[in-house]
Amino acid sequence: MVEIKNKWGLGSQSTALGGGMLLARISKELEAAEPSCTVIGPHQPEYETLRRVWNGTVDRRPAAIVRPRTACQVAKAVQIAAEYSALLAVRCGGHSFPGLSTCDGGIVLDLSAMNHVVVDPLSRTVEVEGGALLGHLDVAGAAAGLVTPAGVISHTGVAGLTLGGGMGWLSRRFGLTIDSLLSVDLITAQGRALHTSQDIEPDLFWGIRGGGGNFGVVTKFRFKMHPLGPVLVGRWSYPRQAFDTVLRGYRDLAAEAPRELTTAFTMTSTTMSVSAFWCGSPENASAVIQPYGSLARADTSMIGGQTYLELQTRNDSHFAWGRRYYAKGGFLGDIDDQVIDGLLDAVATAPTPDSEFYVLQLGGAISDVDEATTAYSGRAAKFYWIAEPVWDNPVDDSRCIAWGRKAGGRLAAMSQAGNYVNEQADTGKDVSYNAYGPEKYNRLAALKARFDPSNLFRLNQNIEPKPSLVAHR
Ligand code: FAD
Repeated sequence: MVEIKNKWGLGSQSTALGGGMLLARISKELEAAEPSCTVIGPHQPEYETLRRVWNGTVDRRPAAIVRPRTACQVAKAVQIAAEYSALLAVRCGGHSFPGLSTCDGGIVLDLSAMNHVVVDPLSRTVEVEGGALLGHLDVAGAAAGLVTPAGVISHTGVAGLTLGGGMGWLSRRFGLTIDSLLSVDLITAQGRALHTSQDIEPDLFWGIRGGGGNFGVVTKFRFKMHPLGPVLVGRWSYPRQAFDTVLRGYRDLAAEAPRELTTAFTMTSTTMSVSAFWCGSPENASAVIQPYGSLARADTSMIGGQTYLELQTRNDSHFAWGRRYYAKGGFLGDIDDQVIDGLLDAVATAPTPDSEFYVLQLGGAISDVDEATTAYSGRAAKFYWIAEPVWDNPVDDSRCIAWGRKAGGRLAAMSQAGNYVNEQADTGKDVSYNAYGPEKYNRLAALKARFDPSNLFRLNQNIEPKPSLVAHR
């Protein structure tokens, strides 16, 4: 037995085979039978690159990295992992904050070669393979003038983002990413292919819309797309002495925002940057976003000149691969005075110049969907916040993480019930339980017992299977 330790406190796990044996078996059983599926082990030159994930604090060494090209190959890899009780990590974009898409000593199922996106402009739908990135989806849609709402950084994976919910610039107008999800093809823990939608296995479809990768490996998503005309983007930066004034003015303006307008702000120790994104009728655009540039005397000001595609990549290099990150987030009903004090105190002690608090406006179409419709929890929230320290030197790990936990902890105490599992660097039962609340957690646990009773898919914000509970049908 090989003990596998996990820095993020997932507890020790074990696999029946040593790493070398596991690699040899997988190579024999998978690569030999399916030549287009590559299996990479520690002795191969590409291993060092392929084992890396986005967050530089995560440094793990899987026994084998399996890179399938078809759903059938995914199914075989899952069967082998189950047969040998191997630890299995499933990876799309590799952006999990706690590094849940890799592991020590087990198998990484790296779906990045399965990244095809096929848009059907007539039906306004898109099929997206389980390893595609947001950039693949956005670019394919743009050619047809269509969008599926997703996140704001183009190198994030569609799969991880969607399975947790998916929020971004278009969510107030078109809903979360899961609100445009029509169906999913996935491979279950038994290696079985399954199709689920509102009409087929509806309980599973409920669970995967927010329940993360707990129920299987998604090989294909089918989404609704929406026509998107010209957009208008504004961005202003304000100096430190204006933070308080800007926050109070922002709060009043945002309360009146129509759903075609989405705003966000980022605060570091020195700068506050406010962004406004308009995707409604062009006539009103300027008048609606201009006030966000007059909240105080701005240091820099930018309005227009950016397409939706450009907006979707503008911060890509800021959140570069390999830097060190931690995140703690939550939902707010309002930016009240207490929250403002919490934000001001937090950024005053930010541990590095790039460490930030980010706040994204929610509501609109997200809140049109009833809370019970999906596993995602937090439909009533007006804002999502995230405390995100960013640093480069490993010696700063504990100092930066401590800031994220403390500053985030203060905001969490003022936040609404529910949380977004996708942007929590901490893991453990409490994180999932608190995110979903008791009723949804129990329903998810029953679903997990039905589809993954041995918890093969445990490298995620994990739902422990509870066989005694009966899943809703
Ligand atoms: P991965 O690390 O590959 O996977 C994350 C989790 O999903 C893992 O548990 C993994 O096992 C599971 N998984 C991956 N692929 C599959 C699959 N095909 N089938 C089943 N399970 C799978 N979220 C937003 O909503 N909006 C944003 O704007 C946003 N911006 C972000 C920007 C950055 C820079 C980062 C790091 C994160 C951002 N997030 C955002 C959070 C993001 O949604 C999560 O980090 C998400 O998990 C990333 O997905 P991934 O596929 O890249 O990650």
